[in-house]
Amino acid sequence: MPKGIYIRKPLTEETKRKISESNKGKIRSEETKVRLSLSKLGEKNPMKRPEAREKARKRQLGKVHTEGTRKKMRLSHLGNKTKVWKGDKAGKSAFHKWIRTIKPKPNFCEKCHKKKKLDLANIKNHKYTRNPDDYQWLCHKCHSKLDFPDGLIGKNIKKKNGI
Ligand SMILES: [Zn+2]
Repeated sequence: MPKGIYIRKPLTEETKRKISESNKGKIRSEETKVRLSLSKLGEKNPMKRPEAREKARKRQLGKVHTEGTRKKMRLSHLGNKTKVWKGDKAGKSAFHKWIRTIKPKPNFCEKCHKKKKLDLANIKNHKYTRNPDDYQWLCHKCHSKLDFPDGLIGKNIKKKNGI
């Protein structure tokens, strides 16, 4: 369309509205197309990653719990170290499950080599990587030292769980 036409023949409100609407529609559909193609691109498809599926599942589960239930759940974890270590943070248990399959539980603590009840510990500052070398099977004592080197174990466990 030649430029001049708009100067000689001003657009009516109706025409302006139509143009504006059709442009809005174009922007929206372009955005949607880009979003869809990005979300479905190979590894970027969130549902291809097990941790994303686990996260989505946890989110769904979370919806079921009322604030009261959450409080009860938190309190039931208090003073139970095993449950504290297992944690209820999204993704953590999925990682542990995965690590367990490639790093089988030994009979002895990997740090003090004593035969005790063992926890799977992340030794890289709780960054749940996919490298099995970032994990160690530790007894509660060595795991505590790893997570709370300052020794304020009880206080920090409460802090960690938001109590
Ligand atoms: Zn140990």
